[in-house]
Amino acid sequence: MAVTEKAPAAPTVAHEGILRRQSLRESAARTYARSLPIVPVRARGLTIEGADGRRYLDCLSGAGTLALGHNHPVVLEAIRKVLDSGAPLHVLDLATPVKDAFTTELFATLPPRFARTARVQFCGPAGTDAVEAALKLVRTATGRGGLLAFTGAYHGMTEGALAVSGGAPDVRVTRLPYPYDYRCPFGTGGARGAELAARWTENLLDDAKGGAPAPAGMIVEPVQGEGGVIPAPDDWLRAMRRITADRSVPLIADEVQTGVGRTGTFWAVEHSGITPDVMVLSKAIGGSLPLAVIVYHEDLDCWRPGAHAGTFRGNQLAMAAGAATLAYVRENGLAERAAVLGARMLGQLEGLAANHPCVGDVRGRGLMIGVELVAQAAGDPPPPAPELAAAVRRECLSRGLIVELGGRHASVVRLLPPLTITDEQAVAVLDRFADALAAAERAALRHGETSPPYGKETDRPYR
Ligand code: PMP
Repeated sequence: MAVTEKAPAAPTVAHEGILRRQSLRESAARTYARSLPIVPVRARGLTIEGADGRRYLDCLSGAGTLALGHNHPVVLEAIRKVLDSGAPLHVLDLATPVKDAFTTELFATLPPRFARTARVQFCGPAGTDAVEAALKLVRTATGRGGLLAFTGAYHGMTEGALAVSGGAPDVRVTRLPYPYDYRCPFGTGGARGAELAARWTENLLDDAKGGAPAPAGMIVEPVQGEGGVIPAPDDWLRAMRRITADRSVPLIADEVQTGVGRTGTFWAVEHSGITPDVMVLSKAIGGSLPLAVIVYHEDLDCWRPGAHAGTFRGNQLAMAAGAATLAYVRENGLAERAAVLGARMLGQLEGLAANHPCVGDVRGRGLMIGVELVAQAAGDPPPPAPELAAAVRRECLSRGLIVELGGRHASVVRLLPPLTITDEQAVAVLDRFADALAAAERAALRHGETSPPYGKETDRPYR
């Protein structure tokens, strides 16, 4: 049953022309545009309206950026206020009242123990820029070159960030096992799997012949997002904190995706209570506009003036939108709301999983939710089912629901709704998802799981 609302046919021409020109003119590296052939023209909250008049429930939220959904009134008002005030929009890294207010609000949200001794560096505008800054900071402060990073990690697309991400080997990076309960590298899962992962790390660092270059820092996501929505167990994260602290290795928490209430606490490190040495922040802190910072212990602040410069480090509109977003999430208890609603949605998805053998695992924290799809084949756990996941994404889209895929094999359907999603909207999201899952599963069974149309997702839908 297609539930997508559809307006009269007239705008379709513009929609198709824009998509066709995009495929002719834009880079082959374009990403979301391939799997989401929509042309957004209006958006509010959870809803996006396309140029073809269709409406979609957006559970991608700008890859986890839109804590308050699209065009939230407090964000629009904050942006308008700056525009109407005559304040300069470009100021390099000069002090302004807007930046001062943003920094004050940001520090008010940080774990107090961390905030007390913290410094902030405004970076280039993307999450990956802040990751680069964090890596450079710890290398400068420690004088060491090596880095500790985790299997399945995602930290961005610039060179240093790629090197610490799971997909790209680098001689200076020591790759450590991230506890992944469902596909446990030690074959045990549960608390035991996480314990073994921590033990492996500790042993390697103390092994004089272990081959790990002297580490300048360890970078970790408290919940792996792109890696397949894998929450780090709190005990394991505390072990990483202890292991790094004992060896004077700065711990960098990449909260680009997990921050600003997404996981059920304002910052995801609060679940475990650890205090990292560096926090990498972007996405939601800009209230939908580009903004990225690192916040770190003042002892690490041994950069020389100008050591990390950049033209675009003073985006006034993003700071205003970001301050408004941080304040709104804090004042309205949206982190707590994410915890409650996220737990309820997880429970409902687990119920759904019981009737669908293709759902191997349902997991998440707060409103960062993943559904791992598996093939009907032997194995414990069964092999991933990326083709089926792509089919579910397509079926979702045809029902007016935008979801993204993640995970090592792109077999995890990810839900990242705005923290402002209502109970009724959450029901609508899960209804559409359940219908899409059933339709994709039926089609997969009809066609045989590995044969077309589920055999290969076409990467070039408009060529
Ligand atoms: N770190 C994490 C944890 C992320 O999820 C992302 C983006 N998905 C990045 C870094 C990179 O951010 P950006 O795409 O803004 O460069």
